[in-house]
Amino acid sequence: MNMSRARERLVVIGGDAAGMSAASQARRLKGPGELEIVAFERGHFTSYSACGIPYWVGGDVTDRDELVARTPEEHRARDIGLRLRTEVTELDLDGQRVRARDVDSGEESWTSYDKLVIATGARPIRPDMPGADAAGVHGVQTLDDGQALLDTLEGTRGRRAVVVGAGYIGVEMAEALIKRGYEVTVVNRGSEPMSTLDPDMGRLVHEAMEGLGITMVNDAEVTKILTGDDGRVRAVATQEGEFPADVVVLGIGVRPETALAKAAGLPLGPHGGLLTDRSMRVRGQGNVWAGGDCVEVLDLVSGQERHIPLGTHANKHGQVIGTNAGGGYATFPGVVGTAVSKVCDLEIARTGLREKDAHRVGFRFESVTIESTSRAGYYPNASPMTVKMLAEHRTGRLLGVQIVGREGAGKRVDIAAVALTAGMTVEQMTALDLGYAPPFSPVWDPVLVAARKASAKVRGSL
Ligand SMILES: Cc1cc2nc3c(=O)[nH]c(=O)nc-3n(C[C@H](O)[C@H](O)[C@H](O)COP(=O)(O)OP(=O)(O)OC[C@H]3O[C@@H](n4cnc5c(N)ncnc54)[C@H](O)[C@@H]3O)c2cc1C
Repeated sequence: MNMSRARERLVVIGGDAAGMSAASQARRLKGPGELEIVAFERGHFTSYSACGIPYWVGGDVTDRDELVARTPEEHRARDIGLRLRTEVTELDLDGQRVRARDVDSGEESWTSYDKLVIATGARPIRPDMPGADAAGVHGVQTLDDGQALLDTLEGTRGRRAVVVGAGYIGVEMAEALIKRGYEVTVVNRGSEPMSTLDPDMGRLVHEAMEGLGITMVNDAEVTKILTGDDGRVRAVATQEGEFPADVVVLGIGVRPETALAKAAGLPLGPHGGLLTDRSMRVRGQGNVWAGGDCVEVLDLVSGQERHIPLGTHANKHGQVIGTNAGGGYATFPGVVGTAVSKVCDLEIARTGLREKDAHRVGFRFESVTIESTSRAGYYPNASPMTVKMLAEHRTGRLLGVQIVGREGAGKRVDIAAVALTAGMTVEQMTALDLGYAPPFSPVWDPVLVAARKASAKVRGSL
Protein backbone atom coordinates (compact mmCIF):
# COMPACT_ATOMS: atom_id res chain seq x y z
CA MET A 1 0.00 0.00 0.00
CA ASN A 2 1.13 3.56 -0.70
CA MET A 3 2.44 4.74 2.72
CA SER A 4 1.27 8.33 2.23
CA ARG A 5 -2.38 7.13 2.23
CA ALA A 6 -4.17 5.65 5.23
CA ARG A 7 -6.22 3.24 3.11
CA GLU A 8 -5.73 1.31 -0.11
CA ARG A 9 -6.97 2.81 -3.37
CA LEU A 10 -8.60 0.79 -6.13
CA VAL A 11 -8.77 2.58 -9.47
CA VAL A 12 -11.25 1.33 -12.09
CA ILE A 13 -11.11 2.41 -15.75
CA GLY A 14 -14.50 2.04 -17.44
CA GLY A 15 -17.87 2.67 -15.80
CA ASP A 16 -20.08 0.01 -17.34
CA ALA A 17 -20.71 -3.71 -16.86
CA ALA A 18 -17.26 -5.06 -15.96
CA GLY A 19 -15.89 -1.95 -14.28
CA MET A 20 -18.84 -1.09 -12.06
CA SER A 21 -19.55 -4.75 -11.20
CA ALA A 22 -15.94 -4.94 -10.00
CA ALA A 23 -16.21 -1.67 -8.06
CA SER A 24 -19.54 -2.67 -6.47
CA GLN A 25 -18.32 -6.13 -5.46
CA ALA A 26 -15.09 -4.75 -3.98
CA ARG A 27 -17.20 -2.26 -2.00
CA ARG A 28 -19.42 -5.09 -0.70
CA LEU A 29 -16.30 -6.79 0.67
CA LYS A 30 -14.44 -3.75 1.97
CA GLY A 31 -15.92 -0.63 3.52
CA PRO A 32 -14.77 2.89 2.69
CA GLY A 33 -12.57 2.97 5.80
CA GLU A 34 -10.40 0.20 4.34
CA LEU A 35 -10.63 0.75 0.60
CA GLU A 36 -11.03 3.90 -1.46
CA ILE A 37 -12.54 3.24 -4.90
CA VAL A 38 -12.11 5.70 -7.77
CA ALA A 39 -13.80 4.88 -11.11
CA PHE A 40 -13.16 6.77 -14.36
CA GLU A 41 -15.79 6.89 -17.10
CA ARG A 42 -15.38 9.06 -20.17
CA GLY A 43 -19.08 8.95 -21.15
CA HIS A 44 -22.26 10.30 -19.55
CA PHE A 45 -23.59 7.07 -18.01
CA THR A 46 -22.65 4.25 -15.68
CA SER A 47 -23.88 0.64 -15.55
CA TYR A 48 -25.96 1.01 -18.69
CA SER A 49 -27.34 -1.77 -20.88
CA ALA A 50 -26.16 -1.46 -24.46
CA CYS A 51 -27.98 -4.78 -24.89
CA GLY A 52 -31.25 -2.91 -24.48
CA ILE A 53 -30.56 -0.32 -27.22
CA PRO A 54 -32.30 -2.27 -30.05
CA TYR A 55 -35.43 -2.61 -27.89
CA TRP A 56 -35.35 1.09 -26.95
CA VAL A 57 -34.94 2.11 -30.60
CA GLY A 58 -37.69 -0.35 -31.59
CA GLY A 59 -40.06 1.11 -28.99
CA ASP A 60 -40.39 -1.93 -26.66
CA VAL A 61 -38.61 0.11 -23.99
CA THR A 62 -39.79 3.70 -23.96
CA ASP A 63 -37.55 5.37 -21.41
CA ARG A 64 -33.75 5.52 -21.78
CA ASP A 65 -33.36 5.62 -17.99
CA GLU A 66 -34.77 2.09 -17.79
CA LEU A 67 -31.55 0.93 -19.46
CA VAL A 68 -29.43 2.33 -16.63
CA ALA A 69 -29.06 -0.28 -13.89
CA ARG A 70 -27.23 2.06 -11.52
CA THR A 71 -26.76 5.80 -11.94
CA PRO A 72 -23.60 7.73 -11.03
CA GLU A 73 -25.43 9.12 -7.99
CA GLU A 74 -26.32 5.61 -6.83
CA HIS A 75 -22.68 4.54 -7.12
CA ARG A 76 -21.50 7.64 -5.28
CA ALA A 77 -24.02 6.94 -2.50
CA ARG A 78 -22.17 3.62 -2.03
CA ASP A 79 -18.84 5.42 -1.60
CA ILE A 80 -17.54 4.80 -5.09
CA GLY A 81 -15.71 7.95 -6.19
CA LEU A 82 -16.97 8.27 -9.71
CA ARG A 83 -15.16 10.58 -12.13
CA LEU A 84 -17.64 10.94 -15.01
CA ARG A 85 -16.63 12.50 -18.35
CA THR A 86 -13.04 11.75 -17.44
CA GLU A 87 -10.87 9.71 -19.78
CA VAL A 88 -7.79 7.83 -18.68
CA THR A 89 -5.09 8.64 -21.23
CA GLU A 90 -2.01 6.86 -19.84
CA LEU A 91 -1.06 4.02 -17.51
CA ASP A 92 2.19 4.31 -15.55
CA LEU A 93 2.55 0.78 -14.21
CA ASP A 94 5.93 1.37 -12.52
CA GLY A 95 4.68 4.49 -10.79
CA GLN A 96 1.28 2.85 -10.02
CA ARG A 97 -0.68 5.81 -11.32
CA VAL A 98 -3.00 6.77 -14.19
CA ARG A 99 -3.23 10.04 -16.07
CA ALA A 100 -6.75 11.27 -16.75
CA ARG A 101 -8.24 14.15 -18.74
CA ASP A 102 -11.49 15.91 -18.04
CA VAL A 103 -13.29 15.54 -21.38
CA ASP A 104 -15.05 18.93 -21.07
CA SER A 105 -12.32 21.16 -19.59
CA GLY A 106 -9.30 19.31 -21.01
CA GLU A 107 -7.67 19.48 -17.56
CA GLU A 108 -5.27 16.60 -16.80
CA SER A 109 -4.15 15.03 -13.52
CA TRP A 110 -2.50 11.87 -12.18
CA THR A 111 -4.18 9.49 -9.72
CA SER A 112 -2.15 6.85 -7.91
CA TYR A 113 -3.46 3.36 -7.15
CA ASP A 114 -2.65 0.27 -5.16
CA LYS A 115 -4.88 -1.90 -7.31
CA LEU A 116 -6.04 -1.26 -10.87
CA VAL A 117 -8.96 -2.63 -12.90
CA ILE A 118 -9.01 -2.19 -16.69
CA ALA A 119 -12.58 -2.47 -18.01
CA THR A 120 -12.40 -0.29 -21.10
CA GLY A 121 -14.74 -2.45 -23.22
CA ALA A 122 -14.63 -2.62 -26.99
CA ARG A 123 -14.42 -0.12 -29.82
CA PRO A 124 -16.89 -0.44 -32.71
CA ILE A 125 -15.35 -1.01 -36.13
CA ARG A 126 -16.07 1.95 -38.42
CA PRO A 127 -15.55 1.56 -42.14
CA ASP A 128 -12.71 3.70 -43.45
CA MET A 129 -14.50 5.02 -46.52
CA PRO A 130 -16.08 8.20 -47.85
CA GLY A 131 -19.38 9.07 -46.20
CA ALA A 132 -18.90 6.89 -43.12
CA ASP A 133 -19.28 9.93 -40.84
CA ALA A 134 -22.15 11.53 -42.79
CA ALA A 135 -25.30 12.73 -41.05
CA GLY A 136 -27.77 9.85 -40.83
CA VAL A 137 -25.06 7.17 -40.35
CA HIS A 138 -25.19 5.70 -36.86
CA GLY A 139 -23.53 3.18 -34.57
CA VAL A 140 -25.36 1.73 -31.59
CA GLN A 141 -22.62 1.19 -29.02
CA THR A 142 -23.65 3.65 -26.31
CA LEU A 143 -26.82 5.27 -25.00
CA ASP A 144 -25.68 8.51 -26.66
CA ASP A 145 -25.51 6.60 -29.97
CA GLY A 146 -29.03 5.25 -29.38
CA GLN A 147 -30.37 8.73 -28.66
CA ALA A 148 -28.69 10.16 -31.77
CA LEU A 149 -30.27 7.41 -33.89
CA LEU A 150 -33.70 8.05 -32.37
CA ASP A 151 -33.30 11.78 -33.07
CA THR A 152 -32.50 10.98 -36.71
CA LEU A 153 -35.47 8.61 -37.02
CA GLU A 154 -37.78 11.24 -35.61
CA GLY A 155 -36.41 13.98 -37.87
CA THR A 156 -36.37 11.97 -41.11
CA ARG A 157 -39.30 11.92 -43.51
CA GLY A 158 -37.88 9.13 -45.67
CA ARG A 159 -38.57 5.58 -44.65
CA ARG A 160 -35.63 3.63 -46.10
CA ALA A 161 -33.06 2.15 -43.75
CA VAL A 162 -29.92 0.17 -44.54
CA VAL A 163 -28.29 -1.91 -41.82
CA VAL A 164 -24.66 -2.77 -42.56
CA GLY A 165 -23.71 -6.07 -40.93
CA ALA A 166 -25.85 -9.11 -40.16
CA GLY A 167 -24.46 -10.25 -36.82
CA TYR A 168 -26.81 -10.24 -33.87
CA ILE A 169 -26.68 -6.44 -33.49
CA GLY A 170 -27.50 -5.92 -37.20
CA VAL A 171 -30.32 -8.43 -37.00
CA GLU A 172 -31.76 -6.88 -33.81
CA MET A 173 -31.51 -3.40 -35.34
CA ALA A 174 -33.30 -4.62 -38.48
CA GLU A 175 -36.19 -5.65 -36.22
CA ALA A 176 -36.12 -2.28 -34.42
CA LEU A 177 -36.33 -0.40 -37.73
CA ILE A 178 -39.11 -2.64 -39.06
CA LYS A 179 -41.07 -1.85 -35.90
CA ARG A 180 -40.49 1.86 -36.57
CA GLY A 181 -42.12 1.41 -39.97
CA TYR A 182 -38.97 1.48 -42.11
CA GLU A 183 -38.28 -0.45 -45.29
CA VAL A 184 -35.14 -2.29 -44.23
CA THR A 185 -32.25 -3.61 -46.30
CA VAL A 186 -29.48 -5.58 -44.57
CA VAL A 187 -26.14 -5.54 -46.39
CA ASN A 188 -23.92 -8.37 -45.27
CA ARG A 189 -20.37 -9.33 -46.19
CA GLY A 190 -20.92 -13.01 -45.34
CA SER A 191 -22.73 -15.64 -47.36
CA GLU A 192 -25.58 -15.73 -44.82
CA PRO A 193 -26.63 -13.62 -41.83
CA MET A 194 -25.46 -14.58 -38.32
CA SER A 195 -21.96 -15.78 -39.03
CA THR A 196 -21.87 -17.19 -35.48
CA LEU A 197 -24.01 -19.98 -36.97
CA ASP A 198 -23.09 -22.44 -39.70
CA PRO A 199 -24.30 -21.18 -43.10
CA ASP A 200 -27.07 -23.81 -43.32
CA MET A 201 -28.57 -22.45 -40.08
CA GLY A 202 -27.86 -18.85 -41.14
CA ARG A 203 -29.91 -19.63 -44.26
CA LEU A 204 -32.98 -20.21 -42.06
CA VAL A 205 -32.49 -16.77 -40.52
CA HIS A 206 -32.08 -15.29 -44.00
CA GLU A 207 -35.37 -16.82 -45.19
CA ALA A 208 -37.23 -15.75 -42.07
CA MET A 209 -35.94 -12.18 -42.40
CA GLU A 210 -37.07 -12.06 -46.02
CA GLY A 211 -40.43 -13.35 -44.79
CA LEU A 212 -40.59 -10.29 -42.54
CA GLY A 213 -40.16 -8.05 -45.58
CA ILE A 214 -36.46 -7.33 -44.98
CA THR A 215 -34.31 -7.19 -48.13
CA MET A 216 -31.22 -9.33 -47.54
CA VAL A 217 -28.07 -8.62 -49.57
CA ASN A 218 -25.36 -11.19 -48.85
CA ASP A 219 -21.76 -11.44 -50.10
CA ALA A 220 -21.76 -7.66 -50.46
CA GLU A 221 -18.90 -5.42 -49.38
CA VAL A 222 -19.83 -1.78 -48.76
CA THR A 223 -17.56 0.41 -50.86
CA LYS A 224 -18.93 3.88 -50.17
CA ILE A 225 -21.65 5.70 -48.31
CA LEU A 226 -23.16 8.22 -50.71
CA THR A 227 -24.38 11.61 -49.56
CA GLY A 228 -26.69 14.24 -51.04
CA ASP A 229 -26.06 17.96 -51.50
CA ASP A 230 -27.13 18.50 -47.89
CA GLY A 231 -24.34 16.18 -46.69
CA ARG A 232 -26.84 13.59 -45.44
CA VAL A 233 -26.63 9.94 -46.36
CA ARG A 234 -28.63 9.01 -49.47
CA ALA A 235 -27.43 5.48 -50.35
CA VAL A 236 -25.04 2.68 -49.52
CA ALA A 237 -22.89 1.52 -52.43
CA THR A 238 -21.59 -2.05 -52.80
CA GLN A 239 -20.15 -3.97 -55.75
CA GLU A 240 -23.68 -5.38 -56.09
CA GLY A 241 -25.18 -1.92 -56.62
CA GLU A 242 -26.57 0.99 -54.64
CA PHE A 243 -29.17 0.78 -51.90
CA PRO A 244 -31.07 4.02 -51.16
CA ALA A 245 -31.03 5.00 -47.50
CA ASP A 246 -32.46 7.78 -45.37
CA VAL A 247 -30.71 6.27 -42.38
CA VAL A 248 -27.82 3.80 -42.05
CA VAL A 249 -27.05 1.70 -38.99
CA LEU A 250 -23.60 0.15 -38.68
CA GLY A 251 -23.26 -3.18 -36.89
CA ILE A 252 -20.02 -4.57 -38.22
CA GLY A 253 -18.38 -5.73 -35.04
CA VAL A 254 -16.04 -4.49 -32.35
CA ARG A 255 -12.41 -4.79 -31.32
CA PRO A 256 -11.07 -4.82 -27.78
CA GLU A 257 -10.36 -1.28 -26.53
CA THR A 258 -6.79 -1.94 -25.43
CA ALA A 259 -4.77 1.01 -26.76
CA LEU A 260 -3.87 2.16 -23.23
CA ALA A 261 -2.91 -1.34 -22.14
CA LYS A 262 -0.82 -1.88 -25.26
CA ALA A 263 1.03 1.41 -24.78
CA ALA A 264 1.81 0.33 -21.20
CA GLY A 265 3.26 -2.96 -22.47
CA LEU A 266 0.56 -5.25 -21.04
CA PRO A 267 0.16 -8.65 -22.76
CA LEU A 268 -2.36 -8.89 -25.61
CA GLY A 269 -3.61 -12.04 -27.32
CA PRO A 270 -4.03 -12.81 -31.01
CA HIS A 271 -7.39 -11.02 -31.11
CA GLY A 272 -6.00 -7.84 -29.50
CA GLY A 273 -7.60 -8.47 -26.09
CA LEU A 274 -5.78 -8.40 -22.75
CA LEU A 275 -4.61 -11.77 -21.47
CA THR A 276 -5.50 -12.66 -17.90
CA ASP A 277 -5.16 -15.63 -15.58
CA ARG A 278 -8.15 -17.39 -14.03
CA SER A 279 -8.51 -14.75 -11.32
CA MET A 280 -8.81 -12.15 -14.14
CA ARG A 281 -5.43 -10.73 -13.13
CA VAL A 282 -3.48 -9.46 -16.13
CA ARG A 283 -0.75 -11.99 -16.84
CA GLY A 284 2.54 -11.03 -15.24
CA GLN A 285 0.94 -8.32 -13.06
CA GLY A 286 0.41 -8.52 -9.31
CA ASN A 287 -2.14 -5.77 -8.84
CA VAL A 288 -3.79 -5.19 -12.24
CA TRP A 289 -6.99 -6.98 -13.27
CA ALA A 290 -8.96 -6.74 -16.52
CA GLY A 291 -12.38 -7.95 -17.63
CA GLY A 292 -15.26 -7.55 -20.06
CA ASP A 293 -14.98 -6.76 -23.75
CA CYS A 294 -11.30 -5.70 -23.46
CA VAL A 295 -10.06 -9.23 -22.61
CA GLU A 296 -9.76 -12.56 -24.38
CA VAL A 297 -11.46 -15.52 -22.75
CA LEU A 298 -10.67 -19.22 -22.66
CA ASP A 299 -13.05 -21.24 -24.83
CA LEU A 300 -13.59 -24.40 -22.80
CA VAL A 301 -14.58 -26.45 -25.86
CA SER A 302 -11.69 -25.56 -28.18
CA GLY A 303 -9.15 -24.83 -25.45
CA GLN A 304 -8.20 -21.63 -27.31
CA GLU A 305 -8.34 -17.95 -26.39
CA ARG A 306 -11.15 -16.01 -28.09
CA HIS A 307 -12.62 -12.52 -28.03
CA ILE A 308 -16.34 -12.83 -27.29
CA PRO A 309 -17.71 -9.40 -26.39
CA LEU A 310 -20.85 -10.14 -24.37
CA GLY A 311 -22.41 -8.45 -21.38
CA THR A 312 -23.08 -11.76 -19.68
CA HIS A 313 -19.30 -12.36 -19.46
CA ALA A 314 -18.48 -8.76 -18.53
CA ASN A 315 -20.72 -8.89 -15.46
CA LYS A 316 -19.23 -12.19 -14.31
CA HIS A 317 -15.68 -10.93 -14.86
CA GLY A 318 -16.49 -7.84 -12.80
CA GLN A 319 -17.80 -10.00 -9.97
CA VAL A 320 -14.63 -12.11 -9.95
CA ILE A 321 -12.34 -9.07 -10.15
CA GLY A 322 -14.18 -7.22 -7.39
CA THR A 323 -13.99 -10.28 -5.14
CA ASN A 324 -10.24 -10.60 -5.66
CA ALA A 325 -9.52 -6.88 -5.46
CA GLY A 326 -11.64 -6.78 -2.30
CA GLY A 327 -9.44 -9.39 -0.62
CA GLY A 328 -11.51 -12.51 -1.39
CA TYR A 329 -10.95 -15.32 -3.87
CA ALA A 330 -12.80 -16.10 -7.09
CA THR A 331 -11.98 -17.43 -10.55
CA PHE A 332 -13.54 -17.32 -14.00
CA PRO A 333 -13.08 -20.71 -15.67
CA GLY A 334 -13.92 -19.73 -19.27
CA VAL A 335 -16.88 -19.88 -21.62
CA VAL A 336 -18.56 -22.27 -24.02
CA GLY A 337 -19.71 -19.51 -26.39
CA THR A 338 -23.43 -19.33 -25.69
CA ALA A 339 -25.49 -16.55 -27.25
CA VAL A 340 -29.15 -15.93 -27.98
CA SER A 341 -30.90 -13.24 -29.97
CA LYS A 342 -34.01 -12.70 -32.05
CA VAL A 343 -35.47 -10.96 -35.04
CA CYS A 344 -39.19 -10.34 -34.51
CA ASP A 345 -40.58 -13.74 -33.47
CA LEU A 346 -37.63 -15.75 -34.79
CA GLU A 347 -35.29 -16.90 -32.01
CA ILE A 348 -31.65 -17.69 -32.80
CA ALA A 349 -29.27 -19.43 -30.41
CA ARG A 350 -25.88 -21.07 -30.45
CA THR A 351 -23.32 -22.58 -28.10
CA GLY A 352 -19.99 -24.34 -28.58
CA LEU A 353 -18.28 -24.85 -31.91
CA ARG A 354 -19.53 -24.34 -35.46
CA GLU A 355 -18.35 -26.79 -38.12
CA LYS A 356 -15.55 -24.47 -39.19
CA ASP A 357 -14.37 -24.03 -35.58
CA ALA A 358 -14.31 -27.80 -35.07
CA HIS A 359 -12.28 -28.23 -38.28
CA ARG A 360 -9.87 -25.48 -37.25
CA VAL A 361 -9.30 -27.00 -33.83
CA GLY A 362 -8.75 -30.42 -35.40
CA PHE A 363 -11.83 -32.29 -34.18
CA ARG A 364 -13.39 -35.00 -36.32
CA PHE A 365 -17.09 -34.75 -35.74
CA GLU A 366 -20.56 -35.90 -36.67
CA SER A 367 -23.22 -33.34 -37.44
CA VAL A 368 -27.00 -33.81 -37.35
CA THR A 369 -29.92 -31.45 -37.96
CA ILE A 370 -33.46 -32.21 -36.81
CA GLU A 371 -36.84 -30.56 -37.15
CA SER A 372 -39.20 -30.62 -34.20
CA THR A 373 -41.74 -28.39 -32.48
CA SER A 374 -41.79 -26.09 -29.46
CA ARG A 375 -44.78 -27.89 -27.87
CA ALA A 376 -46.51 -31.23 -28.34
CA GLY A 377 -47.58 -31.29 -31.99
CA TYR A 378 -51.29 -31.39 -31.07
CA TYR A 379 -51.06 -28.50 -28.59
CA PRO A 380 -52.15 -25.04 -29.86
CA ASN A 381 -49.40 -22.79 -31.21
CA ALA A 382 -46.76 -25.50 -31.48
CA SER A 383 -44.17 -23.94 -33.78
CA PRO A 384 -41.36 -25.52 -35.81
CA MET A 385 -37.81 -25.54 -34.55
CA THR A 386 -34.54 -26.63 -36.15
CA VAL A 387 -31.72 -27.96 -33.98
CA LYS A 388 -28.24 -28.68 -35.29
CA MET A 389 -25.83 -30.63 -33.11
CA LEU A 390 -22.13 -31.46 -33.45
CA ALA A 391 -20.53 -34.35 -31.56
CA GLU A 392 -16.97 -35.58 -31.58
CA HIS A 393 -16.34 -38.63 -33.75
CA ARG A 394 -15.89 -41.81 -31.69
CA THR A 395 -16.10 -40.25 -28.17
CA GLY A 396 -19.49 -38.66 -28.82
CA ARG A 397 -18.54 -35.61 -26.75
CA LEU A 398 -20.95 -32.73 -27.43
CA LEU A 399 -19.16 -29.98 -29.39
CA GLY A 400 -21.88 -27.48 -30.29
CA VAL A 401 -25.56 -26.74 -30.79
CA GLN A 402 -27.42 -24.18 -32.91
CA ILE A 403 -31.17 -23.58 -32.71
CA VAL A 404 -33.47 -21.52 -34.92
CA GLY A 405 -37.21 -21.39 -34.24
CA ARG A 406 -40.09 -19.43 -32.79
CA GLU A 407 -41.21 -18.88 -29.22
CA GLY A 408 -39.44 -21.19 -26.77
CA ALA A 409 -36.60 -22.12 -29.13
CA GLY A 410 -33.82 -19.76 -28.06
CA LYS A 411 -33.35 -20.48 -24.38
CA ARG A 412 -33.34 -24.23 -25.06
CA VAL A 413 -29.69 -23.67 -25.94
CA ASP A 414 -28.99 -23.43 -22.21
CA ILE A 415 -29.51 -27.19 -21.91
CA ALA A 416 -26.66 -27.63 -24.36
CA ALA A 417 -24.54 -24.96 -22.62
CA VAL A 418 -24.77 -26.93 -19.37
CA ALA A 419 -24.02 -30.21 -21.16
CA LEU A 420 -20.97 -28.63 -22.85
CA THR A 421 -19.70 -27.22 -19.57
CA ALA A 422 -20.08 -30.63 -17.94
CA GLY A 423 -18.26 -32.29 -20.86
CA MET A 424 -21.19 -34.61 -21.56
CA THR A 425 -21.48 -36.97 -24.49
CA VAL A 426 -24.53 -36.83 -26.73
CA GLU A 427 -25.48 -40.29 -25.45
CA GLN A 428 -25.48 -39.01 -21.86
CA MET A 429 -27.62 -36.10 -23.00
CA THR A 430 -30.33 -38.43 -24.31
CA ALA A 431 -31.10 -39.44 -20.71
CA LEU A 432 -31.32 -35.91 -19.30
CA ASP A 433 -34.36 -35.58 -17.05
CA LEU A 434 -35.88 -32.48 -18.65
CA GLY A 435 -39.35 -31.24 -17.76
CA TYR A 436 -42.19 -32.26 -20.04
CA ALA A 437 -45.84 -31.30 -20.45
CA PRO A 438 -47.58 -30.71 -23.82
CA PRO A 439 -47.65 -26.86 -23.52
CA PHE A 440 -43.85 -26.79 -23.04
CA SER A 441 -42.38 -29.42 -25.35
CA PRO A 442 -43.00 -32.66 -27.20
CA VAL A 443 -42.40 -35.70 -24.99
CA TRP A 444 -38.89 -35.82 -26.47
CA ASP A 445 -37.58 -32.28 -26.24
CA PRO A 446 -36.07 -31.09 -29.56
CA VAL A 447 -32.60 -30.96 -27.95
CA LEU A 448 -32.96 -34.58 -26.88
CA VAL A 449 -34.18 -35.59 -30.34
CA ALA A 450 -30.99 -34.06 -31.76
CA ALA A 451 -28.88 -35.81 -29.10
CA ARG A 452 -30.48 -39.19 -29.96
CA LYS A 453 -29.79 -38.71 -33.64
CA ALA A 454 -26.22 -37.55 -32.97
CA SER A 455 -25.64 -40.47 -30.62
CA ALA A 456 -26.86 -42.94 -33.25
CA LYS A 457 -24.55 -41.36 -35.81
CA VAL A 458 -21.55 -41.56 -33.45
CA ARG A 459 -22.33 -45.27 -32.87
CA GLY A 460 -22.49 -45.73 -36.61
CA SER A 461 -26.05 -47.01 -36.46
CA LEU A 462 -27.56 -44.23 -38.54
C1 LIG B 1 -26.53 -2.91 -29.45
C2 LIG B 1 -25.89 -3.90 -28.53
C3 LIG B 1 -26.60 -5.00 -28.10
C4 LIG B 1 -26.01 -5.93 -27.25
N1 LIG B 1 -26.74 -7.02 -26.84
C5 LIG B 1 -26.17 -7.93 -26.00
C6 LIG B 1 -26.91 -9.05 -25.55
O1 LIG B 1 -28.09 -9.21 -25.89
N2 LIG B 1 -26.30 -9.94 -24.73
C7 LIG B 1 -25.00 -9.77 -24.30
O2 LIG B 1 -24.50 -10.60 -23.52
N3 LIG B 1 -24.27 -8.71 -24.72
C8 LIG B 1 -24.82 -7.79 -25.55
N4 LIG B 1 -24.10 -6.70 -25.97
C9 LIG B 1 -22.68 -6.58 -25.56
C10 LIG B 1 -22.55 -5.91 -24.19
O3 LIG B 1 -23.20 -4.67 -24.19
C11 LIG B 1 -21.08 -5.74 -23.88
O4 LIG B 1 -20.45 -6.99 -23.93
C12 LIG B 1 -20.86 -5.14 -22.50
O5 LIG B 1 -21.38 -3.85 -22.43
C13 LIG B 1 -19.36 -5.10 -22.17
O6 LIG B 1 -19.17 -4.47 -20.94
P1 LIG B 1 -17.77 -3.81 -20.61
O7 LIG B 1 -17.92 -3.21 -19.26
O8 LIG B 1 -16.68 -4.77 -20.85
O9 LIG B 1 -17.55 -2.70 -21.74
P2 LIG B 1 -18.44 -1.44 -22.14
O10 LIG B 1 -19.86 -1.67 -21.89
O11 LIG B 1 -18.00 -1.06 -23.51
O12 LIG B 1 -17.94 -0.33 -21.11
C14 LIG B 1 -16.64 0.18 -21.17
C15 LIG B 1 -16.72 1.60 -20.64
O13 LIG B 1 -15.41 2.08 -20.51
C16 LIG B 1 -15.39 3.44 -20.90
N5 LIG B 1 -14.01 3.73 -21.29
C17 LIG B 1 -13.28 3.14 -22.27
N6 LIG B 1 -12.03 3.62 -22.28
C18 LIG B 1 -11.97 4.55 -21.29
C19 LIG B 1 -10.94 5.38 -20.81
N7 LIG B 1 -9.71 5.37 -21.34
N8 LIG B 1 -11.21 6.22 -19.77
C20 LIG B 1 -12.47 6.25 -19.20
N9 LIG B 1 -13.47 5.47 -19.62
C21 LIG B 1 -13.22 4.61 -20.65
C22 LIG B 1 -16.38 3.51 -22.06
O14 LIG B 1 -16.88 4.81 -22.21
C23 LIG B 1 -17.45 2.52 -21.61
O15 LIG B 1 -18.52 3.15 -20.92
C24 LIG B 1 -24.67 -5.74 -26.82
C25 LIG B 1 -23.95 -4.63 -27.24
C26 LIG B 1 -24.54 -3.72 -28.09
C27 LIG B 1 -23.74 -2.53 -28.55
